Amino acid sequence: IETFKDKRVALFGLGGSGLSTARALIAGGARVAAWDDSEAGRLKAVAEGVALDDLRGADWRGFDALILSPGVPLTHPEPHWTVLAAQAAGVEIIGDIELFCREREARAGGAPFIAITGTNGKSTTTALIAHILREAGRDVQLGGNIGVPILDLEPPSDERIHVIECSSFQIDLAPSLAPTIGVLINITPDHIDRHGTIENYAAIKERLVAASEVALVGVDDAYCHAIGARLAARDEPDKRVVPVSATRALDWGFYVEEKSIYFREEGHPPEEAEQVASFEGARALRGAHNAQNAAFAAAAAWECGLDDEEIARGLTSYPGLPHRMEEVGRIERALFINDSKATNADAAEKALKSFADIYWIIGGRSKEGGIEPLRPHFARIRKAYLIGEASADFAKTLDGALPYEHCETLDVATTRAALDALASDADEPVVLLSPACASYDQFKNFETRGDAFRGLVHGLPAVIAARR
Ligand code: ADP
Repeated sequence: IETFKDKRVALFGLGGSGLSTARALIAGGARVAAWDDSEAGRLKAVAEGVALDDLRGADWRGFDALILSPGVPLTHPEPHWTVLAAQAAGVEIIGDIELFCREREARAGGAPFIAITGTNGKSTTTALIAHILREAGRDVQLGGNIGVPILDLEPPSDERIHVIECSSFQIDLAPSLAPTIGVLINITPDHIDRHGTIENYAAIKERLVAASEVALVGVDDAYCHAIGARLAARDEPDKRVVPVSATRALDWGFYVEEKSIYFREEGHPPEEAEQVASFEGARALRGAHNAQNAAFAAAAAWECGLDDEEIARGLTSYPGLPHRMEEVGRIERALFINDSKATNADAAEKALKSFADIYWIIGGRSKEGGIEPLRPHFARIRKAYLIGEASADFAKTLDGALPYEHCETLDVATTRAALDALASDADEPVVLLSPACASYDQFKNFETRGDAFRGLVHGLPAVIAARR
């Protein structure tokens, strides 16, 4: 990153992306002063030769920019005051995506830059777009809010397509963000704590698509629908806004019907709708929510010039992301699904809607509302296996509605659920870890919980053989 050569830059937050930003700035000749409230973060930075500066009393007139990491909690007083002080001194406050965009602009030309945002499905859609393009032989860099920090990726070139997941926070700190293809999947009133109001949150997401050459905008929720209409009404001939629906055939745009994605051009009759691709049989794209992700990914790939066969191949060979309805095994007729990322009822609902004959492992540290909202899906569940702190609480909801047992730990629950599933008369019983809870009572995070489940499933054949 040469855009800050010889400039003084303050950097707040030294996690993965903060460190990568520090490295990129220093390599480009900037003078960096960095801070993180966590000592572990500071120690890592020092080991990499980053100069530390507790920015609290900083004289902001000496700085050209303040760079914030996506993890910085702006709602906490300390960084908040630092940010206010920098703002008052007229210092620009930006993030790593902004640095990437400036660098990309400076290089001119270049392959498409695809940026993805939305309340839900960002990671899946981003990974899916990258997978489809890669399978079609394109040179792809995948990162941003998923996986590799953007400044650790290979830099833009004429062939290299960047597929970047953007959180609202990152968009907010990237005034030059102007993707070739912008994707706005959906907006629902989750995670709005950081952005104050849903209106503010939606306005930040709108900026990403408003600045895109081609904007792919959902029409299945009211917020996105309004954004799409507003953008379409602009008079900007060099920008296109294309609607995308997973729930109904559109007059024009991309839409899903029966596991196929179609594109209908504006002003053309329905019979002229083209089939973009089918995702029938795509094992990692089960459920209505994944139809939405598939529609956006296919649309983005279509806009990159891929043909129907290339897109279908990518959709059906997509392996999925770990811990999101991840297939981790099959024993005889039984299927084992790791949905450890489902840390609340809303996320678990997606999995419950996607399967039948479910042997459901739930529990952990419960969130507000518990599993009461999941009651309408109990008919598809054969039995529940309770683990962790939430057990007693969840048992109250399940009493009289579903058979359940207290298992305490994940290993006991996995074994019991597997034995019941194998003894059942269902064609394809599903042992589903979709806990509707945080993992912190028994695990470090949802990833270690999901990894533990995967390990247990791999060890099951031996356990089952011993029992029989
Ligand atoms: P994000 O990156 O936006 O958090 P992910 O792709 O990681 O989204 O998916 C996380 C969880 O969100 C999934 O396990 C699923 O429960 C839910 N989800 C995924 N895609 C969608 C969607 N299009 N609409 C609603 N919920 C979704």
